[in-house]
Amino acid sequence: MNTGVIYLDHHSSTPVDPRVVQAMMPFWTENTANPSNPYHPLGRRAADAVETAREQVAMLIGAKRTEIVFTCGATESNNIAILGTAMAHTGNRRQIVTCAIEHKSVLEPCRWLAERGYEVIILPVDSLGHVQLSALEQAVDENTLLVSIQLANNEIGTLQRMEVISRLVHERGALLHCDGAQAVGKIPVNVEHLYLDMLSISAHKLYGPKGAGALYVRGGARRARLQPLMFGGGQEWSLRPGTLNVPAIVGFGEACRICHEQMPEEATRVGKLRDRLEQLLKERIPSLQYNGDPSLRLPNNSSLTFPDVEADALLLNLPDVALSTGSACTAGAMEPSHVLQAIGLSREQSYRTIRVGLGRFNTEEEIERAAARIAEVYHRVGAIGER
Ligand code: PMP
Repeated sequence: MNTGVIYLDHHSSTPVDPRVVQAMMPFWTENTANPSNPYHPLGRRAADAVETAREQVAMLIGAKRTEIVFTCGATESNNIAILGTAMAHTGNRRQIVTCAIEHKSVLEPCRWLAERGYEVIILPVDSLGHVQLSALEQAVDENTLLVSIQLANNEIGTLQRMEVISRLVHERGALLHCDGAQAVGKIPVNVEHLYLDMLSISAHKLYGPKGAGALYVRGGARRARLQPLMFGGGQEWSLRPGTLNVPAIVGFGEACRICHEQMPEEATRVGKLRDRLEQLLKERIPSLQYNGDPSLRLPNNSSLTFPDVEADALLLNLPDVALSTGSACTAGAMEPSHVLQAIGLSREQSYRTIRVGLGRFNTEEEIERAAARIAEVYHRVGAIGER
């Protein structure tokens, strides 16, 4: 579909890959059976398709099939991981550690637990968005039940040094959950190399459909020390009951298969496009500021702070380029992004920041056109402001 809009908002959501649509289609048109029904071939075929998808998701992250629990997305996976771990625990560990630039679907369940007697420690990050390892070392001790730290940030793209974090957390006997919503499918993520206990994944961030996601659980859901948040039909080892969304799950599996096949070529190509965009913008707006860690960030991310023009004004005048101010999940609220504030930007700087998220289908021509349009509108809006 040619929308006439250059889509650079891939952190919000990615377009569904046409191969994914093709894989999903039969489960809307030909076989709509419930995979929980083993008594007819259509039910069994639907169940087989779900298991194939489970294998494909597992393959992308180096997990076993039985360690993948399907959910409706990363928000749900994060909630199950955090609330489920806390509610299942019967010992003395009553502390949860997370960090200031986590997504709200991590911070809010933590806040909910804090209101119910858990000690929640929110670690600061440095100006590049890295969790301060000394603070982590100090915070995690024999009282810590769970540490939840994202792999990649959805606004500034910073990648956490997860191998170091994982070692530190496990030396102290705590569990490690990672929000992988922005990282999985974009960069190599292996649950064994990183030794993660839990990992949240979202299909619509990796060219799959909305409404599907997964929680990876080390050792498998059957043995997981997780309290379900819902009760009912026993699906997904009773950890996430409810009739499975077969088309979305099949699409999620296919999307993971494609990511597995195309990485790292795709990461290299998209990274080059991002670098080109930043170079073109820098030539036209020399005082533009970049956020995040230039040497350790998602290949598709660019977070830009303009010297003197508000992001809202810029984007309202740029209907032909899909961009975002802060994170889409908090867009609409007038509060500046908690991520930008945590890395030390002032409120004014936060309001002057846009997030660019490139993706699989962007072309070099689009990137050149987008850079020209952003710079042109920036100079036009800036000139109006000066009058
Ligand atoms: N975590 C991060 C880092 C995200 O960027 C998002 C989506 N904005 C989520 C979690 C929530 O994912 P979902 O939309 O699948 O619920």
